[in-house]
Formats: sequence, structure tokens, C-alpha cells
Amino acid sequence: MGFFVHARGQTADRRFVMSAFDLQPAASALVLFSGGQDSATCLAWALDRYERVETCGFDYGQRHAVEMQARLAVRAGMAGAMSDRAGRLAEDHVVDLTGYGAISESALTADKAMEMDARGLPTTFVPGRNLVFLSVAAALADRRGLDVLVGGMCETDFSGYPDCRRDTIDAMERALSLGLDKPVRIETPLMALTKAETWALADRIGGDPLVELILEASHTCYRGDRSERHAWGYGCGDCPACELRARGHAEWVAS
Ligand code: ZN
Repeated sequence: MGFFVHARGQTADRRFVMSAFDLQPAASALVLFSGGQDSATCLAWALDRYERVETCGFDYGQRHAVEMQARLAVRAGMAGAMSDRAGRLAEDHVVDLTGYGAISESALTADKAMEMDARGLPTTFVPGRNLVFLSVAAALADRRGLDVLVGGMCETDFSGYPDCRRDTIDAMERALSLGLDKPVRIETPLMALTKAETWALADRIGGDPLVELILEASHTCYRGDRSERHAWGYGCGDCPACELRARGHAEWVAS
């Protein structure tokens, strides 16, 4: 656990909010699960440590129904890839956020070119996406009686989406804890990992069967292209998500 603790910001406020809760080990988790490489790795990470794991996906008008297919394929494959721990996998939830998708239109949800805006953020940035997802997930976890939220947010991602930073997550933890009047914990096991290290983490948790499941079934490509299987999985090969995934996989294989 110590390794991952360093991935989180340890602000005084956060310690205050979390102190009572940290005394009790969490037994159940809700994984924010899109069917991509990162959230598939997070799902395996959660299955490895919690007795009950539910998943939650969001339909916000993504261009690619393929993402929703990938979610089901990764979940189904966990029975083979995580055989001893797969029994912990419980309900899946898909929340309709198409209304949010309509107001937060970006290159992922609309037919726009991928380029940089005035802030230096790529047009693939969906404003406030993780803030909305975490709020909805926290409500769902509360209703389902699940102890922690797990998300694949990552600071080392080239795109530097501001709502993926641990500072933002810490602030959300505090806002949700205050707003729900109970400690809300958000685990982000990939926060400090490079993409190569994310592959290595999957390998440590589930070895070849898990790595193969993530290669074969998870989906990352912004264009939704699954026409060709590369060494690193399916994708167009030249969108930013494919480039990141391919480079990370190559670095991991070389190491
Ligand atoms: Zn691609």
C-alpha cells in the first residue's frame, strides 16, 4: 500500500477528512470503468484488494459505441484472467449522462478535429468530466453501500487534463465528504505511473492472462478503430491515445 500512498497528495485538509475512515479497512469498491486500458487495470487492481467490486460507466454521447462494447468484454474476460479473484466482480452500472455530453461538447463527443485550445488543452478535453463522473459515482456508491471509489486518473498522461490531477481529486474527496457528510475516499492507483508502469502493474496483478485480456479487449483509440490488432492492442495507431498506448507498451516490453 505504501507505494500508492505516495501517489496521493497529503494535504492537511485531506488528513483531517480521512483520519477517522482510514482506521477501517475498505471492503468494497466502485470502479469508474470506461473499458480503456487504464480503467481495466484499475478494475484488476480493485479485484485484487476488495471483497466486492462494482463497476460504473457513463454514456455521455461518446462517438464510439465500441467503448461500451469494450467494457462488457473486459468484465467478461476477468473470469479467465483473474480466476481466483473474479468472484468478487459484482454489478455493472451505466449512467446516462447524454445531457451533460451535450453541454460539454468536445472532440470526443462531437465531430471536431483534435487540436489545442487557448488554454493549451487539447480539444479532446471534456470540461469538468471527472468532476461530474466522481459526483455521480459517489452518489451511486452511497446508494450501493460501497466503501471507496477507484479511478484511472493519471497525472503523467501527456495531455495533462487538469481534472485528472491528484490536487483536483483531493479537492473532490473533500467536497464529496462534506456534501455527503461522511468520508469519501477516491483511490487513483495509476496517478503517478507512466503508461509503461501501468502495463507492469497489470502484469504484477494478473500476469500474462490479464495483460492479454487488456491488450485484446480494452479500448483506448479516440477514433474507435478496431480494424487491426497491433502488439499493443487495437486502434488507428496515430491518434494521441493510440500513440500513448503504443509507446507505453513498447517501453514496458523493452524494460
Ligand atoms: Zn487511435
